[in-house]
Amino acid sequence: MSMALQTKQTLFDIDQSHKKTCNPFSVPKRLLLGPGPSNSHPDVLKALSLPPVGHLDPFYIELMAEVQELLRYAWQTNNRLTLPMSGTGSAAMEATIANSVEPNEIVLVAKKGYFGSRLEDMAGRYGANVKTIEKPWGHAFALDEIQAALEMYKPSIFAIVHAETSTGVCQPMDGIGDLCRKFDSLLLVDTVTSLGGVPLFIDKWKIDLAYSCSQKGLSCPPGLGPFTMGPRAEEKLALRKGQVPNWYLDVSLLNKYWGSDRVYHHTAPVNMNFGIREALRLLANEGLEQAWTRHKINAQRLWNGLESLGLELHVSEDLRLPTLTTIRIPADVDGKAFSLHLLNEHGIELGGGLGDLSGKVWRLGLMGYNSTLDNVNLILNLFETELPRFKNNSVAAS
Ligand SMILES: *Cc1c(COP(=O)(O)O)cnc(C)c1O
Repeated sequence: MSMALQTKQTLFDIDQSHKKTCNPFSVPKRLLLGPGPSNSHPDVLKALSLPPVGHLDPFYIELMAEVQELLRYAWQTNNRLTLPMSGTGSAAMEATIANSVEPNEIVLVAKKGYFGSRLEDMAGRYGANVKTIEKPWGHAFALDEIQAALEMYKPSIFAIVHAETSTGVCQPMDGIGDLCRKFDSLLLVDTVTSLGGVPLFIDKWKIDLAYSCSQKGLSCPPGLGPFTMGPRAEEKLALRKGQVPNWYLDVSLLNKYWGSDRVYHHTAPVNMNFGIREALRLLANEGLEQAWTRHKINAQRLWNGLESLGLELHVSEDLRLPTLTTIRIPADVDGKAFSLHLLNEHGIELGGGLGDLSGKVWRLGLMGYNSTLDNVNLILNLFETELPRFKNNSVAAS
């Protein structure tokens, strides 16, 4: 008895001290103008905070079908296998690879930034014989370069990033799908930073596999990775010799839950799907073309404003991505100090450079809910009034 009491007493004491040190948290106000996540739409946050229901609840099953239908609209596709993977964009990226790559077959990756390298890494891990073509960071591939590489390597899969978030380049997609059909390659496209913000047509462009994320153009928190697979990729999946070497991301299993059987695979992140349902509804209500135009207009205002302040943009205008702009850090400016200042004094997040562009650029995102005239004016005003303080005169003089 006394032992039990003593134990209880001890636990009670631990509990009390725990209560003293662990306070509820509050989140600082942030305007996320970096490479992602972007701010979530308030209506999406409301949807996320609704009470969860069971993942097989008839209400939820209906909501799943709506999410799929809305995703098909956002992507302009009729693909049956269109669903959000439970995970971030990289999980959906891995799903495209896991479900399409068979050991030893050739996968050709067109690399022009950081995310091409991630595709290369993943394809290698799934046993592909990976070949690459490369462009300097800030450039895009020309159609004849892609054609020459397809001719040379005859890959089973050709993978390319539509919107390279590490460089701010939007890859022109015209003609690539036709070439891939001609060479009997599947076309796999990263649409993480284009979905919802930049013209994107899965079916018209003959894209066989694509993925995206919830936290960039869709203005939902990170946590879901939209995935789509067309009929040619589905056929390859049906004919594959071995099992998909990833249980969690196996579309043939997932489709038994998202498709007609409705059998349990994993417990769906129900609230994340509430959130993306709302995010996709907002996009559909605005209209895809209207959303694309809004992103283009606001990006153009940003580009004009930055250039009139004497700043240089890293990407030539014809290839510039409306959702993400790379701004060259002037030689006499401490770029990191300016970003820190924006975060600490104004609650604004601006991204730095990755890889080859590390220390050379800022990355400024205007994605989804954040693509507004007010945000453009706010950030231009800060570049105008506060950047001069971060000029290092001694560097400028030397
Ligand atoms: C953000 C991003 C990813 C990865 O998505 P996560 O949600 O961070 O896993 C992949 N590709 C591109 C082009 C991205 O911008």
